[in-house]
Amino acid sequence: MSKEIPYKIYLEENEMPKQWYNVRADMKNKPAPILNPATLKPVTVDELSGIFCTELAKQELDDTTAYIDIPEEIRNFYKMYRPAPLVRAYCLEKKLGTPAHIYYKFEGNNTSGSHKLNSAIAQAYYAKKQGLRGVTTETGAGQWGTALSMACAYFDLDCQVYMVKVSYEQKPFRREVMRTYGAKVTPSPSMTTDVGRRINEEFPGTTGSLGCAISEAVEAATSQDGYRYVLGSVLSQVLLHQSIIGLETKAALDKYGIKADMIIGCAGGGSNLGGLISPFAGEMLRGEADYKLIAVEPASCPSLTRGRYVYDYCDTGKVCPLSKMYTLGSGFIPSANHAGGLRYHGMSSTVSQLYHDGLIEARSVEQTEVFKAAEQFAKVEGILPAPESSHAIKVAIDEALKCKETGEAKNIVFGLTGTGYFDMVAYQKYNDGLMSDYIPTDEEIEKSLSGCPKVD
Ligand SMILES: *Cc1c(COP(=O)(O)O)cnc(C)c1O
Repeated sequence: MSKEIPYKIYLEENEMPKQWYNVRADMKNKPAPILNPATLKPVTVDELSGIFCTELAKQELDDTTAYIDIPEEIRNFYKMYRPAPLVRAYCLEKKLGTPAHIYYKFEGNNTSGSHKLNSAIAQAYYAKKQGLRGVTTETGAGQWGTALSMACAYFDLDCQVYMVKVSYEQKPFRREVMRTYGAKVTPSPSMTTDVGRRINEEFPGTTGSLGCAISEAVEAATSQDGYRYVLGSVLSQVLLHQSIIGLETKAALDKYGIKADMIIGCAGGGSNLGGLISPFAGEMLRGEADYKLIAVEPASCPSLTRGRYVYDYCDTGKVCPLSKMYTLGSGFIPSANHAGGLRYHGMSSTVSQLYHDGLIEARSVEQTEVFKAAEQFAKVEGILPAPESSHAIKVAIDEALKCKETGEAKNIVFGLTGTGYFDMVAYQKYNDGLMSDYIPTDEEIEKSLSGCPKVD
């Protein structure tokens, strides 16, 4: 018989993974290569090294090495806030009256409040090791910028963050956390880059967009000596670093002889979901086990459930490599949605390929339902979840309620990517009954998709 399962399953420090797992190595159908936007040829490490650190450029293009050592300095940093607990949601199960066993992997146990620190520290480490002076990036809602500021402070690297102007003004506290960690935060579009000045001239008074902030950050990186650009999601290197989530989850489950039936994650650019499911998808790919893997996305930005699997631009400025992915088109502007981290038009190429091959299924959910689930969860589990994470909570609850009908004691695992303390405007809207859902029409998606480049 299995041991009694504690509320929190912790790993010992010496049980923490020493290597990241690269699921691409076990994929027969590899994600399509990323292409140089000028030549439409697969990019080389050399070309990528102009934008990214060389070691990260190598990781980006490596689809054959299954295990990659986590450098000791990164492992030591991880030890400050990891291993993250795998929590048995006994209180939620009881409240729902479900026979299902619900587990969540909690990634909100650090100041940045999300899983993004797992990759930020790795990217900062390789930048430092290469002898760079600093890195540039963009941030929307601010979680990524915060995580990167923390990582750069640790390694004494300069950190320049282009923050979408509307968030810069509406989320002053996020901005101040970044500044406290020493980052230089610039509202985007700014007057400090050519592309920023051009956009400000063309659209006076614009409050910015993620696509524009990316273009500014890339320009800032390539126009200063000793700087590179870093990105917090979507890329294969980020998925690799985030595999720490899945490896720890699997180790914790194995410790108690628990076999997950389904694994659920929210999907913005796909990094936490990809990281969480990687070791499990690996077992499926090698024919060793079977799981139901579910990606959850907002109905307002449904790249997997309603997008198309084609090559597309990763940024509005069209300076980054082209990626084959499920996309809504790089010009797609999702309606106001409070899950800022889920408003990206595309999806990780690895998650896209796994979904295309039927290993992952996808669901889209509306935000009022998501906040209802968040409230339900917060009341019994004691954590105020991030709106992004609450997408996974919503589907986990749905699945647990299905088990209540069928009487099945399934093991449901989901990723709780972060906390929602900086999202109180969203909770306020929900509490005041002012939250609405906007679902794009087929025509809107079609129109945006017509802007995809013609490649194939
Ligand atoms: C950024 C973010 C996400 C979404 O990003 P992915 O790359 O899809 O994982 C989800 N949850 C939180 C809390 C985030 O900050």
